[in-house]
Amino acid sequence: MDLESKARLIAVGTVRLEGPHPGERVSTAGPGAGGQSIFFQSGPHLVRLSVTEDSPLRLESRPDGAAIVQDGRELARGRLVQPLLHCPGQAYLTISERCIYDCKFCAVPRLKGGIKSQETVLWMVEQAAETGDMQAISLTSGVERSPEHEGEKVAAMVRELGRLGVPIGVSICPYPGVNRLLREAGAAEVKYNLECGDKDLFRQVCPGMSYEAIMDALVEAVDVFGKNHVFSNIIVGLGESDEALRRTIDDLTEKGVIPVLRAVYPHPLRAGGAVMKRPSKERLLDLARYLKEALEKNGLDGAAALTGCYRCTGCDLIPGRDL
Ligand code: SF4
Repeated sequence: MDLESKARLIAVGTVRLEGPHPGERVSTAGPGAGGQSIFFQSGPHLVRLSVTEDSPLRLESRPDGAAIVQDGRELARGRLVQPLLHCPGQAYLTISERCIYDCKFCAVPRLKGGIKSQETVLWMVEQAAETGDMQAISLTSGVERSPEHEGEKVAAMVRELGRLGVPIGVSICPYPGVNRLLREAGAAEVKYNLECGDKDLFRQVCPGMSYEAIMDALVEAVDVFGKNHVFSNIIVGLGESDEALRRTIDDLTEKGVIPVLRAVYPHPLRAGGAVMKRPSKERLLDLARYLKEALEKNGLDGAAALTGCYRCTGCDLIPGRDL
């Protein structure tokens, strides 16, 4: 699979499974929270696709692995990869699968899922570590009660998990003081998601949250965690223009923050709540190339990431890894 083929697969974002597949290696977390997904490795590229029954892409078995096929044409040949916990090589856990906020594209507040206790998290990660395949731990969370409560809870988990000796990344809703707290607990990297590359649109799709406060936390995080270790998800497909996205990419990279350009996942639980249009292959490639240049211009390196999505690469076109 080359870069263009990966972009084509991400633009669709889903795959249909037919019949028995090698190991039925499906994962049940990620942007399509609540559903199943597969990880497909082909050459140097890894792609994660959500499993749906009506996808135009189909996963087919091959004697030496698997292929992804559209309208009878093979788009990529490779193999399925077993995720460790949500993603290959990492224990990637969502602590609170619920949220007091109501971002219009996010399924978490609607799913009203469970809250993992510290005991559960430690047990899950220890099981993952025992496989010998765990290279990193990534913790993400909705907001159960308040950002501060969530931060304290996750920091306590990071303190305990430090003894496993792998880098730990944390993605939570930021608030003043969170960077020091997480750093002192032992986190190596953080991701605070700006979500929307258009400030005006942000107010509509993330009501009750402050773009400026997230940006302030990101800027401080670069001082605390260092360049190449601070990230922010920017969703592509919420109705923002490419111009707005480019401005946000410039703004973040000039501040030392690495944007994660994430194709929107139009979750059925959020249908009608916001514009959610999966970006085309061409748009994804254009933006990824722009991002690569912006990172280089600002002395940032996607390949230096220790945890999270720049390390995994399943959902996005990652500069420093895919291009
Ligand atoms: S790229 Fe990030 S969100 Fe996607 S599967 Fe990998 S770790 Fe999960």
